[in-house]
Amino acid sequence: VTNWQGRNITVAGLGVSGISAARALAGLGASVTVVDGGSSPALRERAESLETEGISVRLGDAENLPEGTDLVVTSPGWKPTSPLFAAAAKAGVDVVGDVEIAWLLRGPDAAPWLAVTGTNGKTTTTQMLASILSAAGLRTAAVGNIGTPIIDVVLSEEPYDVLAVELSSYQLHWAPSLRAHSAVVLNLAPDHLDWHGSMEAYAADKGRIYEGNRVACVYNVADKATEDLVRAADVEEGCRAIGFTLGTPGPSQLGVVEGLLVDRAFVEDRHKQAQELAEVGDVQPPAPHNIANALAAAALARAYGAPATAVRDGLRAFRPDAHRIQHIADVGGVAYIDDSKATNTHAAEASLAAYESIVWIAGGLAKGATFDELVAKSAKRLRGVVLFGADRALIRQALARHAPEVPVVDLDRTDTGAMLEAVQEATRLAHAGDTVLMAPACASMDMFTNYNQRGDMFAEAVRELGAASA
Ligand code: ADP
Repeated sequence: VTNWQGRNITVAGLGVSGISAARALAGLGASVTVVDGGSSPALRERAESLETEGISVRLGDAENLPEGTDLVVTSPGWKPTSPLFAAAAKAGVDVVGDVEIAWLLRGPDAAPWLAVTGTNGKTTTTQMLASILSAAGLRTAAVGNIGTPIIDVVLSEEPYDVLAVELSSYQLHWAPSLRAHSAVVLNLAPDHLDWHGSMEAYAADKGRIYEGNRVACVYNVADKATEDLVRAADVEEGCRAIGFTLGTPGPSQLGVVEGLLVDRAFVEDRHKQAQELAEVGDVQPPAPHNIANALAAAALARAYGAPATAVRDGLRAFRPDAHRIQHIADVGGVAYIDDSKATNTHAAEASLAAYESIVWIAGGLAKGATFDELVAKSAKRLRGVVLFGADRALIRQALARHAPEVPVVDLDRTDTGAMLEAVQEATRLAHAGDTVLMAPACASMDMFTNYNQRGDMFAEAVRELGAASA
């Protein structure tokens, strides 16, 4: 148990998690200064409100370590190479994140954590897990990278039994003490390499989630890198490596047999080799990557002791968040799907694999990605492509190399209004029975505020189209 009384803590970043950390630590008696490089009116307003609570705020300087700091608490967006951290290292001061603080603030009888990370599918899997745990009658919440800041959850009076915790690679990087009950790395593909510096560093940060696990380290059989991370982790005695697969499961695995999700890792009846959990059709949407998410969630829930019926009921009750392969409408026999959350090529590949004949709307900020593999794998499913956004030329060139026969409309636009034109062009390319899939494989910030706005604009354009054709 840490004593926060009289400590001099610098919080990096005046965002949601920074404010939550500052308030919590000040409430425990620490003397807190929040620093932020910005100085916009919005930030100044937040600063004023914190200052009335006795928290100091320094705007316009994100580089120098305030005098007397003995711990730095960082926000997820701050790169490890930030000058403030170099200053902290020089002064011999530790840097940690909000997840580390939340972990340290837990009482001795606090709810254990079932932790989820991976390049894609984190939010979906964490919410599925919470849904299964609820169906088992447990008091739980999906927290971490989603919803209420994790520090607020830990300090709340709610008597949770167990928490479903989504963790980003950033949060893991800064959470050295975290010890989950059980954890999963869903998959590993290049992403955020600008932040982590290299694929090795990114993988190592993801792998931290397994450190000290008590019951199960869950890995993706189809993604050997995740299993390697399990083998490399230092875990409690008796902790098991549990795989999930879309194929027939081996011993200590969950998988799919004849349209059923089955569990060969946590079998209740010792006369049986496998326990049936649910039907593939219980998973919404039943796309392959999403079945994988469901199996991972089931593995963690089963590691915690949830019965098979809870897996089925929890999956049936689960509805994915908006902008994740969300069916918007059918117009003229064409289905319109919003997968705005496909902000990288790995995610877009999963959703392109879920449909047969696709008019694909793509483009935006590539974040250093290449598109050859994605386009080569998806070429035979493409009826046509509509491109917009700053890095659309990269996708156009990959299409020219791997799918030269597929018609491409390059809108040559980076304004928000391009979405309406994209939907109109896509509709022109589509035939009855096709799917218009907006899964841009890129970040949205060149054209939109965020992926939510991008998805909302798509839905709006589809509705206009529906109204026009009605
Ligand atoms: P995250 O929280 O990791 O960003 P989400 O659950 O929000 O993940 O899903 C983001 C997008 O990633 C989805 O819209 C979908 O396109 C894709 N996706 C979801 N699960 C997977 C998976 N297991 N493998 C690959 N792509 C996935």
